[in-house]
Amino acid sequence: MNRLIQKLRLLIVKDVSDEKETKDLAVLLRVLSLVYIAYYIFAAIFLALLFHYTHAFIALICAGLLSGCFISTYDNQTRLALRLFNVVTIASASYFTLATGWSMNFQWNILISILVLFYSLEIKMSQKLRYMKLLFTLIVALAVFTHMAPPYRQGSELFSFFFQTIHAFFYGGMLCTLAYCYCTKFNLAEDKLRQSNKKLIEMASLDALTQLPNRRSMTEHLNVLVYENDRTGKPFCIAIGDVDFFKRVNDTYGHDTGDYVLTTLAQMFQNIVKGRGKVARWGGEEFLFCFEGMNVQQARAALEVLRLQIEKYNFQFKDQNLKLTMTFGLEEYSQIIGIEAAISKADGKLYEGKSNGRNQVVY
Ligand code: GH3
Ligand code: MG
Ligand code: MG
Repeated sequence: MNRLIQKLRLLIVKDVSDEKETKDLAVLLRVLSLVYIAYYIFAAIFLALLFHYTHAFIALICAGLLSGCFISTYDNQTRLALRLFNVVTIASASYFTLATGWSMNFQWNILISILVLFYSLEIKMSQKLRYMKLLFTLIVALAVFTHMAPPYRQGSELFSFFFQTIHAFFYGGMLCTLAYCYCTKFNLAEDKLRQSNKKLIEMASLDALTQLPNRRSMTEHLNVLVYENDRTGKPFCIAIGDVDFFKRVNDTYGHDTGDYVLTTLAQMFQNIVKGRGKVARWGGEEFLFCFEGMNVQQARAALEVLRLQIEKYNFQFKDQNLKLTMTFGLEEYSQIIGIEAAISKADGKLYEGKSNGRNQVVY
């Protein structure tokens, strides 16, 4: 039994092979078609038992047409299946309402068909609203007609009891199924939107080559540090580091090697600032470091470790081996000078280091 249910589940959720067709609409139509087939077969048996042979025959035709609707969803014909489903539901609801009377509740099948129509994303909203108005008019017309001219042969008490009870459960189940499908669809759409927003935010704050935070995101972070410093006095230092003679790397070994050097350096920087600050790509081969909760001496010690590590490191890319150095300008932030002046001072010290022979930390 479990295997049979599993097989049926797989059959229902089977993907549509044509990209233009929407899978969720196909799945909904499959579920509804199966439920409606069972509903019409059940109704046909009951109607035949009560000697309503014409009604029973029409119910069987509806079951047959809905089998066609079920099969069409596997044949890249979801739109055709949707049309067939709506035509069968609306036509049979109208027929049975006129034939058996308003109180048998067949007419509410038209509302199910409106809900299914609105589920499809491929139909334009204006078209959906037009259909809705038309179908609503049909329901009103059925109400007026069945009250003005009640069916010639009113059903027996058993007949009324059967259809009223069946319809109460049937519509309840249908509405729950549709609510579930709508909810799943909205949740999926919301998840997708949230994920792409997250990706966009990440892309907007990261440098594409080194995957370090970019200048914009570092500027925001510095504003947070300034705010914290104003409130709690927590110190922080800023350093700007620039690769020495980087143009030569590009000119001698090519731009790819230059890119490789920048990404390798970025990893080293991340290790150095881990747990004590942040580093960002500030411009071409310039990086801005902030050391949080550290004074100049502590930040200088960290930068010296990094400077020596870079000096010793053997950059290997393809068959090439190269050595590099970096120069840093370091400045502690203070409320008196402000953040922009602190960055300019760090920059000034960096250029002081460049003119004094490079490969050093100026503080
Ligand atoms: P200095 O020691 O004075 O800093 O000399 P330098 O050669 O490093 O300075 P310069 O400013 O003349 O050269 C920087 C070079 O960095 C020029 C530019 O082509 C290169 N560069 C900037 N961004 C990138 C990048 O993303 N990839 C690569 N490969 N090169 C880059
Ligand atoms: Mg440089
Ligand atoms: Mg530079």
